Parts: sequence; C-alpha cells; structure tokens
Amino acid sequence: MSQAVGRNWSAQMITTVLDLGTAPLFRKEFQLDGGHGSVDSAELHISSLGIFEARLNGTPVAEDVLSPGWSAYEWRLRYRTYDVTELLTDTTVLTVSVGNGWYRGRLGFMGGRECYGDQLGIIAEVEIVFADGHRQRLSTDKSWGAGGSDVLANDLYDGQTIDAGRRSDTWFAPRDTWVVTPMHPEWFGPVRLLDFDKSRLAPYVGPATSRQETLSPIKIWESPSGRTLVDFGQNLVGWLRFTVSGPAGSEIRIRHAEVLEHQELGVRPLRDAQATDRFILSGGEDFFEPTMTFHGFRYAEVTGWPGELSAGDLEAVVVHSDLQRIGTFECSDPLLNQLHRNVVWGTKGNFLDLPTDCPQRNERLGWTGDIAVFASSAAFLFDVGSFLSDWLIDVALEQEHADGMVPFVVPDVLKLMPAPAAFPDPDSTAIWSDAAVWVPWDLWQAYGDLSILDQQYESMTSHVRRVEGLLSPAGLWDTVFQFGDWLDPDAPPEAPWQAKADSGVVATASLYRSASLLAETADLLGRASDAAEFQDLAERTKMAFNKHYVGAEGAITSDCTTVYTLAIVFGLLDPVTQDAAGNRLAKLVIDRDFRVSTGFAGTPYITEALTRTGHLDEAYRLLMERECPSWLYPVTMGATTIWERWDSMLPDGTINPGEMTSFNHYALGAVADWMHRTIGGIAPLKPGYSQVRIAPRPGGGLTWCSTALETPRGRVAVEWKTEDSHLTVKTTIPSGVTAVLTLEGQPEVTLTEGAHTHTVERE
Ligand code: BGC
Repeated sequence: MSQAVGRNWSAQMITTVLDLGTAPLFRKEFQLDGGHGSVDSAELHISSLGIFEARLNGTPVAEDVLSPGWSAYEWRLRYRTYDVTELLTDTTVLTVSVGNGWYRGRLGFMGGRECYGDQLGIIAEVEIVFADGHRQRLSTDKSWGAGGSDVLANDLYDGQTIDAGRRSDTWFAPRDTWVVTPMHPEWFGPVRLLDFDKSRLAPYVGPATSRQETLSPIKIWESPSGRTLVDFGQNLVGWLRFTVSGPAGSEIRIRHAEVLEHQELGVRPLRDAQATDRFILSGGEDFFEPTMTFHGFRYAEVTGWPGELSAGDLEAVVVHSDLQRIGTFECSDPLLNQLHRNVVWGTKGNFLDLPTDCPQRNERLGWTGDIAVFASSAAFLFDVGSFLSDWLIDVALEQEHADGMVPFVVPDVLKLMPAPAAFPDPDSTAIWSDAAVWVPWDLWQAYGDLSILDQQYESMTSHVRRVEGLLSPAGLWDTVFQFGDWLDPDAPPEAPWQAKADSGVVATASLYRSASLLAETADLLGRASDAAEFQDLAERTKMAFNKHYVGAEGAITSDCTTVYTLAIVFGLLDPVTQDAAGNRLAKLVIDRDFRVSTGFAGTPYITEALTRTGHLDEAYRLLMERECPSWLYPVTMGATTIWERWDSMLPDGTINPGEMTSFNHYALGAVADWMHRTIGGIAPLKPGYSQVRIAPRPGGGLTWCSTALETPRGRVAVEWKTEDSHLTVKTTIPSGVTAVLTLEGQPEVTLTEGAHTHTVERE
C-alpha cells in the first residue's frame, strides 16, 4: 500500500560509538547564520530507533512523550515535526536522549528483547527560515556528539532507573560556558552513521502520546509486611512523578500494581514485567519523572522515601494518545455508570499510541481481535479516527509482507521471536484478522469519511480473499486454528480457547460479516465487479452456514449463547429461524440465571441479539446482573477498569489463578456500544451521523438516561426519563442533520435542528 510521501531528508541516522552504559544523550551545538535578519520559522523533524526526548537549550521541544511510538518499524518509522521558532538562540544546544522503547526494549510474553535492532539511533534536522528568505539546515551527521545521561536503565515493561547525581545542566549549555570539574567529566564522544533506509520515514497520521491528567493519592498506609503502599483510586496508565530531597546516593524504589492481594501489592498478573522504577538522589532537591517507561497501576509500593510519605509528595501522571472525548453516557443506575467509566478508562489505558490488549503485563500488544470488537465503542467515546487510521496502515503493511494474512498482533512482533511450543502457527483467524474489515467499517460508520475505506481497501480485500482460500470444500471456515469464543467463562482458566461455541460456527459467521461489509465497501467505492464478487462470497457463506450449522427448528451447532448471538447480529438467518434463534438464546440466558456465558466473540453482541429478537428485558437483566460472571460483578468488587476475565479477581479477593488475568482489557467493555445505542438511544442512520436514529429503549428499572455525542456535524443529545406511565424524551439535533425518533409503540417522527421534547404513554 502506498504511504504518505515524507520529506526529503538530508540527515543521517546516527548512533553511539561507545557503550555508554546509560540511555544515550545526543548533542549538537549550532549558531544561527548571521546577516539574515530574524528567524521567521524553524522546524525540527525528528525520529529515532528507540524513543526520543528532544530539548533545545534544555527546554523540551513539545509535550509529547514516548515518540515515535510503535509502528511496523521494518517498513514505517514515523517522525514528528515541531515548531521550534521560539526556542532558538544565537547559539542553540540541541540534545536528544533515547530510550529503548518498543524498538530495543522487551516485547511480548516470550522474553523478546531487541526485536527490531540492537542499536539506538536518531535522525533529525532543524530547518530555519530567516526574514530575508535565507534557509539554514542542521542535520544529524558525524559531527554530533553522544554522551551518557542520568537514565541508568529503561524498559517499558521493567521500569526506569534515574540517577540524579549524574545530571548536569551543562549538557544543555553552550560549551564555552562549561566549567569542567573532575566530579562531572563533561564529555561527548563520537557518533557513527547507521545504515538506514530513509524511505521508511513517514509522518504521523495519528495523534502524539502525552501527559493527560494527574491524580493524587487517596490513601497511604503500611501493609502487613511493613511496606508503604499508595492508592491512587483509579487503575491508570502512566507513571509517578515527584520532587524530593534526601541523602546523596540513597535510592527510592517504586513498584506498581493494579490490585492488592492479601493486603500487599498483587504483582502476579504482571507476569515477569518488573514495573519497578528506581530513583537515586543527588543530595540536593531532585525532580524525578520516568518518561521512558509506563505502567498500568492503581497502587504503588514506595521504598526508601526520606522521611514520612504524604499525599502531597507525589502524583500519578496519566499518559495516552491525544484523543478528544466526544461521547458521554449517564443513567439512573450508579453501577452502570461505573461500568461505563471503566470502559472509558480502559480506552485511555490501552490507546497509548496503538490499540493494545492490556497496558501492564509483559504483553501490551496490538492484538487485532480486541480492537475488532471494541472499535465501535471507542469511536463513540473518543475521536479515534486518525489514531486507528494510523494503526490500520500497519495492518496493511504486515499483510503486504504475509500474503494478505492479518497477524494476531499488529505490529507483528511475534513473527520476530521464537513461537512458544503450544502456540498456533500464524494464519488468518476469525475476529482477530477480521479487524482489517471491521475496524475501518466502524470508523466509516462513526465519522462518515469514506477515505478510510479507500485507504484500507486493499487490506480489506486481501484479507477476505485469503480467507476464501482457506475454506473447506463445504465453504466453511473450519480448517485452521481459531481463537474462537476466546475466554468463554466456562473454559478452564488455563485453556481459554476451549469455548463451548464451535469455532467453525464463529469463524464462518465472521467471514459472512466481513464479506458482506466488503461488498458494501466495494459498492461505495464504485468497484462493481468486486462488489459482485464479495456479495457472491457472502451468499455462498450464508448458505453453507445454514446448511451445515443450522438444524431443525433453528438449533445451531454447539447450541450456546455465542453461536445464536453471532448468527442473529451478523444477519445469517431468515426471519423465521431468526425468531427461533432469539427464543433459544433468551432461554439459554434465563437458564443461566443471567450470568454471562459468552467469550470475546459473543459478549460484544449478545445484548443486541436479544434486543433485535424481542428480548429487551433479558438483555437488561443480563447487563445488570451482579453475580459472577457478569458485567457488574467487577464493579461490585471495586473495579475502575474493565477486566480481562469476568472474575479476574475472585469473590474472596484473591487473583484468578489463570495466566491471563489483566485488570485493564477493553474487549469485554464492547457492550458500551449497546448502551449508547439502545439505552442512550443514539445511533447513526447514515455514516457520520448525517442522519441519526434516536431510539432509546428504557428498561432494567432505569428511570433516566442522558447520552450525548459530538458528531462530525455537531452535538446530538438525548435525555429521557420515565415518570409514572410517561416517557419524556428530550433531543438536541445539530444543523444540517435529520433524526428519526422511534419510540416503542409510537409512529416515527422526523426531527431537524433544534431542541425537541416528546412525552408519550409507556407501553
Ligand atoms: C491477549 C488477548 C488476545 C489473546 C488472543 C491474550 O494474551 O491479552 O486480549 O486477544 O491473547 O489469544
């Protein structure tokens, strides 16, 4: 696929010659060309192998952190461009420190390290334009220097060690002002050029990552084993920062965890991620902020703090991609509101440069299946258009180099390390690989910008055509490994793929959805013959599904909630069978006492399947159940994010013994989409909400709900409340948008710009 055309770089990728034993600090001092008047504009273009932090005369060039993030580095390394006009002086010192980040640090659950390379490097150029039009360019080349820094160790999983005793302001000051003392040997050694293909450099499509907010401790106490623990009241992603004074050479150590177990830090879910920062004090007043790592945590254990630690001493910094919040939801049930907040926080924590499964253990990978089911919820909560477009470029790049296969994770770092013994061979996998179609489709629906489908068209088609080649002679996708209804709560904790749902049913239904959406996409893009090809595949898949999986009276192979859910929501059944499937689904839900019995595949869609087949009450009962497994069980256990497993924490307060027990996984939060559409009542009738469907379906004992969305055309808001036998619905519609208001038992009403109130008798 074609990438955005980048700049014409004259700079070279440089690296250190000596092993500095710390994160390297690259340095260059330069003078402004004289005789050209004042500086009109100056831009710094920069990227790195590793993560960089650039400063001019000691001042950070911008707010972003962890740049240039993680992309499919083999083919695409993003660079950032900063306006540095205000930061230049007659003599300017440009320094860039570089951490291991995703490039050279640990990645994945197999102990991978240096997956992309063992040399950190930077490529940078400053472009200065003077008042008289003269241009000066400063580029990374062999004339730069590299020295040690105060960062002794840094790793995204394991944490960062900073030695304040090694800091020197002179790094950022012109050389002729240096006073070199034996205590501070101020030297910068040579650099060398790295062989690097500059055609890989591409501008960011998505937003930068930056500090978003700070949280103060809500409690500090001593644990039974005598450790100092801090609670920030919210499971978040980022780090701690503080200013402190203490004896020179003494060390403060901070460990992070999402939960407590047996009243101590519960670190087992982190697996072997150390999530530990160390700070060595200079003896003076030191400010510490470990920006070359990040942790998923609510609790911190602080060792070595000089004196007594109090709440004002430190703060947690929340870090994620710069995303605008656009959708809100609130209703009369506090537990549902907390569930919704947990979905929001799950999005924040896992939208740190790329959509990840989790942000805390030795994983944090771009698992495709997780975002395949969560994209529509995320697209309502935040404007994730450019964020996901950026990631989708990497999906396409990975496919280009793997015969159209969408890997389990993007960027596909798993291909760069030895596979675990029991791990499936990489191949297209339902839902996970379907991200190539479902995610762009959700963005098109949410924002109405057809260019995303155009950008991804080749990726979408190559995925579906590849899957077609994998089908059995019967036309079913039942030939290769499937994650299937991953993490079915009835599967053993150690074997999350052993779901009740037949994996062929899940996969074939998913293919039907992808082929149908692709046929529509081809049609929208004016590709008639492709549209016919994918429509035909969709029809054949539907026939095969019905022939082989749907029995007498609508029974579907493996007869469990997920298979009925997918068949209903993806539209595989004729109306009579659909009714029967809905009834069977409702019965299974009732028989389970409204406990969730679906995994990754069924959970996002089950409330919708019940609603569509006339079982709204059951949908509400399921959503509002509090006993485990259920959406609200974690809420009753004090969850502040969505958990990976319904019972990541068991009712007795111990952590689920399963290997995979994250407390910040957004996938099961995909029910938020149903909450927005069905409880809240806002859904697009046309992509990008040029026409809006307003159809709240009160239920579950809720007495009011207030939902709003900043659509590309302005704010749509719906507030409803029930009083006695009346339902009052207030709507706000922006200019240029028409809305169709559909209330149970009432004729449809078309609404245009403005505020409207409708009061009707309840059914
Ligand atoms: C991840 C999941 C992912 C799954 C697929 C897990 O380790 O955390 O969210 O989709 O593997 O197998």
